[in-house]
This record gives sequence, C-alpha cells and structure tokens, in this order.
Amino acid sequence: MPIKNRFAELQADITAWRRDLHENPEILFDTVRTAGVVAEKLKEFGVDSIETGVGRTGVVGVIKGKTDTSGKVIGLRADMDALPILEATGLDYASKTPGAMHACGHDGHTAMLLGAAKYLAETRNFDGTVVVIFQPAEEGGGGGREMCEDGMMDKYGIQEVYGMHNWPGVPLGQFAIRPGPFFAGTDQFEVVVQGSGGHAAKPNETIDPTVATSQLVLALQTIASRNVDPVEQIVVSVTSFETASKAFNVIPPSVTIRGTIRTLTPETKKLAEERFKAICTATCAAYGCEAEIDWRPGYPPMVNSEAQTAFAAEVAAGVAGKCDLAEITMGGEDFAYMLNERPGAYILVGNGDSAPVHTPDYNFNDEAIPAGCSWWAEIVEKRMPAA
Ligand SMILES: [Zn+2]
Ligand SMILES: [Zn+2]
Repeated sequence: MPIKNRFAELQADITAWRRDLHENPEILFDTVRTAGVVAEKLKEFGVDSIETGVGRTGVVGVIKGKTDTSGKVIGLRADMDALPILEATGLDYASKTPGAMHACGHDGHTAMLLGAAKYLAETRNFDGTVVVIFQPAEEGGGGGREMCEDGMMDKYGIQEVYGMHNWPGVPLGQFAIRPGPFFAGTDQFEVVVQGSGGHAAKPNETIDPTVATSQLVLALQTIASRNVDPVEQIVVSVTSFETASKAFNVIPPSVTIRGTIRTLTPETKKLAEERFKAICTATCAAYGCEAEIDWRPGYPPMVNSEAQTAFAAEVAAGVAGKCDLAEITMGGEDFAYMLNERPGAYILVGNGDSAPVHTPDYNFNDEAIPAGCSWWAEIVEKRMPAA
C-alpha cells in the first residue's frame, strides 16, 4: 500500500496550513494561536470531541471509527512549538515574529497530523477510536509530561501511542526507526564551586576554586570512562566555565560550571546522577572548596516498544517501499513521557538533504506530507482494521 491518493489531493491544503503555522511560530507553552488553529480545524473536520487546555496549551481530539467492537484506542501525537531562533531562510512565508522560528519542523508535524485527522474523520474506516494529541513545549518545556500529568492517557483510555519527527539526512519521504532506546535522557547541571579569592601572587592565602574546578571537569569524565558499562552510551559535557573575575591578577572566590549528561537507559541515568554528585562533592572537598550542586532532571530516555516498533516499521515499508534502521541520537525528546506511560513507537520521516534542525536555515519539506500523513492513517487502519 503506497501513499494514499487522498493525501495527494489534500497536499496543497496541508501545505497551506503548514506555511501559515511557519509564519506564526510560538515558543514553548505559548502555542495559543496554534492551538486555536488546530481546535478550529478539528471542529471543521467533524471530529467527535475536542478538548483544549490539556497540559496548559495542548489540544486533544477524538475520532471514532465506523465500529468499535475492538475496544482499541490509539493515540497519535504531534508537537506544535517553535524555537527561539532568528529565521534566515528568506522564504516568503518566513516567521513574522523576530526571534521565533519553526526550526525543528513542528509546523510540519502539526499540519500532517491535521491532514490525517481530516482523512480519518472523513473515512472512519477502522474499528476502534483514535485520539489525536497536539502538544506544546516539546523543546525543553515538557509539554508532553504536562499532558500526561493532566491524566490524558487514562481519561481517553489510550492504549498505544505513536509519534513522528521529520529528519534531515533521511531521504525525502522515506522512514527510519529503531526498537529500544532511541533518544537520550537529557539532564542538566549547574555547580558553583565556592572557594576564597585573593591576590594572584599570594595563592597560599586563598582557596583557589579555578584549580579545584579544573580538576572537577576532568574527574567528571570518569563517569563515562570508568563508571558506566562501556557498551552503554553516555555523554558528559561541561559546556560553561565561568569565574567571578576577568582580571589577570585576581583569584576569584567562586567558579560556576554548567553542562549536560545524556543517557539512554533509566539505570545509566541514575548511576550518572549519583556519580556526578559524589565526584563534585569529594573533588571540591579535596581542594578545600565547597560544591553547591543544582541538578536539573530533564527528559527521560525515549524507548520504543518492540512490538509497536515492528508494526510501525511494517506500515512505513508499506507506504515508502522500505523502512531503514535509524541510528541512536543523543538528543532528547519529550515523547519519552508518553512512551513511559503506554507502549508505542516514534518514527523518523525523511526531510531529505536539508539544513539541520535547530539552525536558522532549516525548513520542513512539504513534499514529505503525503508519506507522513499516509503513515498516520495506515497505523490506524491496520492496527484497528474495519470490522
Ligand atoms: Zn527540536
Ligand atoms: Zn523537534
């Protein structure tokens, strides 16, 4: 079953919706206009019920099949938020809001899921229920977590969830997926190493935090090299090292470091946090300093369920002729929270040879729309075949 003809017919409309969203990007939970557009379109499509304000500014729509003897309920999720980036594409539908830009293609995700919702509400050629989920704040705000915390999964009786991301480097309209750990858990830290400053010529009268922090940065690398099982993946990156002084002859009283730790399993994530805190405290103590640790837990690792991933890959191969094995990415993905609550799968749809996501030149490729929409529709029609 290749691309559905209906999506070839709808492609111009879906492209227009996508470009309107691209022109009007909204960041994190501020997706008020976007949520309004989504809710209005779902109403126009005749979906059975619409709820707004889920997870602050998320939208949920319910579409019932012609029959419901299966009792199955499948959730399909798209993200709606943009990034704080000044767009440099020069497109005629470029962002009208300076400093906000759809640089991760969430405009494409929202438009494709709307397209699928229109088709599913028109045809209802399935036995069960579809819940379309439009979430805010994927880019670091935890909008997916907030929708889950609002009780969405139980309220709608969702049994499985599916998600999709456009992906530069995967051929246009092709798919890639992998079972198991797929996206990383993304914790962040800030540590203030407190010493005691003074004249650079009299270090013996100070407790120099720059030397202690330098040792600390190196010691933190042993989490990856000495603590975590070498077959597991982990990234420990100190990304900022700031002293309180810019002078050549002053030993500063404190140093602040920041960074991120990326892991692929809950066990590694926990081990990394424990070792991080122990190394900070003990290394600083060895040099007479004190470590004030601010550990900021981020998204959990995103883990694709085996059975749903095999099914999603089969559907993708049906649409595009094949489905490749995706590589693990150490980036984070808020869909992890939904996959922690329900089995499901997250797939990549190719954006072709484009600029990378999160850059000012990036743009979602509208030619991926028929493939993306067909995948959504087929997930529903094949998982809950018409009675
Ligand atoms: Zn992104
Ligand atoms: Zn994204």
